[in-house]
Amino acid sequence: MKSIKDINFEGLRVLTRVDFNVPLNDQGEITDDSRMQAHLKTIKAILAQGGRPVLMSHLGRPKGERKSELSLTQLVGHLERLTGAKVLFSANCIGEEAIKLSNSLKANEILLLENLRYHIEETQGDREFAKSLAKLGDFYVNDAFGTAHRAHASTAIIAEFFPANKAFGLVMEAEILNVDKVVNSNEKPVVAIVGGAKVSSKIGILENLLSKVDHLIIGGGMAFTFIKAKGGLIGNSLVEEDYLEMAASVEQKAQELGVTLHLPQDVLAGDDFRNEAKQKVFQANAIQDGWMGLDAGDETLAHLKSVVSEAKVILWNGPLGVFEFDNFAKGTREMAHFIAEATQKGAFSLVGGGDSVAAIKKFGLADQVSYVSTGGGAMLEYLEGKLLPGIKAIQS
Ligand code: AMP
Repeated sequence: MKSIKDINFEGLRVLTRVDFNVPLNDQGEITDDSRMQAHLKTIKAILAQGGRPVLMSHLGRPKGERKSELSLTQLVGHLERLTGAKVLFSANCIGEEAIKLSNSLKANEILLLENLRYHIEETQGDREFAKSLAKLGDFYVNDAFGTAHRAHASTAIIAEFFPANKAFGLVMEAEILNVDKVVNSNEKPVVAIVGGAKVSSKIGILENLLSKVDHLIIGGGMAFTFIKAKGGLIGNSLVEEDYLEMAASVEQKAQELGVTLHLPQDVLAGDDFRNEAKQKVFQANAIQDGWMGLDAGDETLAHLKSVVSEAKVILWNGPLGVFEFDNFAKGTREMAHFIAEATQKGAFSLVGGGDSVAAIKKFGLADQVSYVSTGGGAMLEYLEGKLLPGIKAIQS
């Protein structure tokens, strides 16, 4: 994989797809700039290597309309502060004015383009629109892992106009390298913890991971579909009846492949889906009617601690319980600690995709695991083993 760190960009306009889809308040102030922060290393590397970054992004979902509250002008001042560079702005992301501005860039100057999604052609993956964007760069860099699973004009289609002049940015590069460390690891044992609400949204991941891991820990609400498929009594716990057979087949396949599947042994149940619900511990396959499993029990956690502490490689996707309710957050919090401890002992750990990222941050342990993915939906699809359009476009 060609890294931008090895490219001489002297005098080149480097058209870079970033993900500046930051939350803004009613005054147009950025309330969380972590997405902008994440791309700084890429932008600074391009500047340091003599390049002229032309940054393009979407912001929200204007669906082809010019909505002023979704204008990227609101980011100009902050981008200048973060980069220490002068930032020019083009009020249209394509067209003569944008081309002129891109050609006027001097050393240590950046051009930020207006919201790509002011043009409906962006999400349609329109080739002519991609061609117009391509006129703004001599080199194309894709650094927007969060949208890499979409075949949009700026994330995938555009790459065809840069057959030899394209590369991943440093955010993309890190996401790809770190997931590959998990799915193509030579070190054993590899332990995956997959939790969260639904089997239906995780089935692709489970099936893909079976051939890559030694232990598969299933937690959270989705565990009850597995337990029911084995004839267990799950009371009022979350279940997807349509996925009972699928769960049984994952279990069967795990056995065939020699993967140890871990389901909860005991659970902390509530008599209602709320933080203040009455609590009672049950064996996971003998939950009384009127009770729903909302967190892992202590017996389960002791067992999982021993599995995770032996791991050399760990992947965590999805909470072990309803961690948003403090009274049912213990299992998820403990798992975050088990992973941090294993990491300290030398394991490689990746936390990725959705709510487990929120959980590790909530428990203040994000800096004690090896890598936290910013990917969301893209990471989920990557873990399903899909070749993402944004990655394919650079690699082909
Ligand atoms: P996902 O987005 O599929 O990873 O699911 C995350 C959600 O699963 C979180 O909002 C959790 O509250 C929820 N969840 C975890 N365990 C349970 C459970 N036992 N019952 C219901 N929801 C759960």
